[in-house]
Amino acid sequence: MSDKRKFKKRYCKYCEAKIDYVDYKDLSQLKFSLSERFKIMPRRLTGNCKRHQEMVTIAIKRARQTAMIPYIVDRKNVVESPLEMIK
Ligand SMILES: [Zn+2]
Repeated sequence: MSDKRKFKKRYCKYCEAKIDYVDYKDLSQLKFSLSERFKIMPRRLTGNCKRHQEMVTIAIKRARQTAMIPYIVDRKNVVESPLEMIK
């Protein structure tokens, strides 16, 4: 079981990188807010500011529609967790 906690520090990575607009084509930006199973990380974990979190959410959804990131990764890796289902 790998339970990596990549987001310990609470600061907005996008503000830190001075990104004004999160481009859905740039996966290096999106991956900050994607979990290992390509879910959108909630803001309380990433520490993103509201402005960037909303941009990232839109960008990730758009990236999914354009098949740049998968909706579902590997079902074998998915551990059923009620908390994540609610999200
Ligand atoms: Zn920000």
